[in-house]
Amino acid sequence: MAWDFSTDPEFQKKLDWVEEFCREEVEPLDMVFPYAVRSADPKIRALVKKLQDEVKAQGLWAIFLDEELGGPGYGQLKLGLLNEILGRYPSAPQMFGAAAPDTGNMEMLAAYGTDEQKKRWLEPMLAGSMRSCYSMTEPDTAGSDPTGLRTSAVRDGDHWVINGHKWFATGAVGAAFIIVMAVTDPDAAPHLRASQIIVPAGTPGFRNLRPISVMGHDGGSGHCELKFEDCRVPAASLLGPRQAGFGIAQARLGPGRIHHCMRAIGLAERALEDMCKRVKSRVAFGKSLAEQTVTLERIAEARIMIEQARLLVLKAAYMMDTVGNKVARAEIAMIKVAVPKMLSIVVDMAIQAHGAAGLSGDFGLAKAYATARALRLVDGPDEVHRNQIGQLELRKYN
Ligand SMILES: Cc1cc2nc3c(=O)[nH]c(=O)nc-3n(C[C@H](O)[C@H](O)[C@H](O)COP(=O)(O)OP(=O)(O)OC[C@H]3O[C@@H](n4cnc5c(N)ncnc54)[C@H](O)[C@@H]3O)c2cc1C
Repeated sequence: MAWDFSTDPEFQKKLDWVEEFCREEVEPLDMVFPYAVRSADPKIRALVKKLQDEVKAQGLWAIFLDEELGGPGYGQLKLGLLNEILGRYPSAPQMFGAAAPDTGNMEMLAAYGTDEQKKRWLEPMLAGSMRSCYSMTEPDTAGSDPTGLRTSAVRDGDHWVINGHKWFATGAVGAAFIIVMAVTDPDAAPHLRASQIIVPAGTPGFRNLRPISVMGHDGGSGHCELKFEDCRVPAASLLGPRQAGFGIAQARLGPGRIHHCMRAIGLAERALEDMCKRVKSRVAFGKSLAEQTVTLERIAEARIMIEQARLLVLKAAYMMDTVGNKVARAEIAMIKVAVPKMLSIVVDMAIQAHGAAGLSGDFGLAKAYATARALRLVDGPDEVHRNQIGQLELRKYN
């Protein structure tokens, strides 16, 4: 039947397992050892590995790859539902081998990597023994408009020589390699000027200048400022065809948006749940906060906003699965605007209901608020997505 909003019962069983596993195993570990997934302590690493092995045994490790790329091919709708659960627990994505930027990088390697690149980089990443980083944004020009890229890669014999300045490269600390977007063809049309190049960590001429502190993110997130000075890598380090850098980057961002958005919806659900529990237990001026009409209004508003956003994201995911990313581009752009906005408002209301406690580190709401704010920039600012939505809408009237 068309317009069926139900989840496939077999997949629902997997979702139920994920929910229970995250609640009973992942969250308690995080409470005792915050950011356990990034710990270098061998004892904590062993605890993390035990949980990751359980995920692997369930066949749920790194399941985001499409069938033609060697993955189980769940499709975006199912992956979205899974990510909704992961979004409730800060370290769950790493426990499931599904954390950014590694997922996007693995997708690119699976789709465009040579056999050698897949063996050297993709296989260890899929096994969970290697981390990576993706670097496009620059302090001077390239950001919202990636065509402003200045980092250059010049061919010199059998090598590319890279020079440039990058920042906000997430996960650069501890990454085994960086996928760098660089201008290889300065005279080509703007969308064909750039290519993607793999730079192994430790290559002479590559320097990690500093981790940039970002609100709501712990130091381990490693959003770094990087410098490339006559950094030489073999010609075979090109990832995908020369001049295809922007096209590949766009393809990389599509599925990730569904995952980010569904995680944000999980986080919003969590904030609403915390809000409901708090207002039922907290008394002020002789009655429970839950009895204040303004509280009921806020809870209702939060519930409406979450449901609206969730339906839009699932529609975008459904379209990606059925008619493809290109046809779904307006919906993908819409969720990028709608979901962070919804999350900001819902978390803001949850913070207010908690009073000062909402701003503390005890409830995770302050961090969720910072996450919502960052989401309005991470994959490009709202304005760029709104421009795209507006242009697609106007095109209907040509
Ligand atoms: C937490 C975090 C992690 C990140 N991780 C990575 C990463 O791993 N790798 C990486 O390469 N980058 C990463 N980024 C960078 C991210 O991709 C950029 O922040 C984003 O593309 C916006 O670019 P910018 O910050 O340079 O903003 P700018 O391009 O300087 O834009 C600034 C502002 O200008 C306005 N603006 C821009 N274009 C338009 C327009 N067309 N119409 C109207 N107004 C406009 C908007 O208000 C925008 O916010 C990360 C960012 C954050 C916050």
